[in-house]
Amino acid sequence: MENLKAVKIQAVKIDPSVKDSIEPQPPYKCFCCFDSGIVSSVYLSAFVEGKNDLPFLCARRTCETGKRFFAAYSVTDEKRRVCALTEDFTTQAQFQAQFDTRLAATSCEHLHTWGLEAWQKAYKNPRSIDVSKILGVMPKLDRAQRN
Ligand SMILES: [Zn+2]
Repeated sequence: MENLKAVKIQAVKIDPSVKDSIEPQPPYKCFCCFDSGIVSSVYLSAFVEGKNDLPFLCARRTCETGKRFFAAYSVTDEKRRVCALTEDFTTQAQFQAQFDTRLAATSCEHLHTWGLEAWQKAYKNPRSIDVSKILGVMPKLDRAQRN
């Protein structure tokens, strides 16, 4: 068997000023509803007992899509024609019957924070993995050569 020869490349350090520009940006502004206005967080069970049949509207104070849904939710039948979100429903009551608005703004804020933190953990930190710390889990070359 031919001897395996490890070819190592030199680890590089990124200039901090350059590093900021290549840091991945979060794909969503709101991790409670993923910018859809409908809460779809995996952490929802922290605030809701059981499975809710109606989707919750995102009540985060800084969520633009959530705000649009809440505006559509409260718009009167006379004014609803100018509201794009309500065009598939003939009455305000029909629109309101599709959603649950009971989730508190503070709960949505928590769902956002937890979702953002999970994203940061999964996608931001791997960039700074110390290669020397994971070498222990890699197969040893000398053992591979013996087989
Ligand atoms: Zn939201």
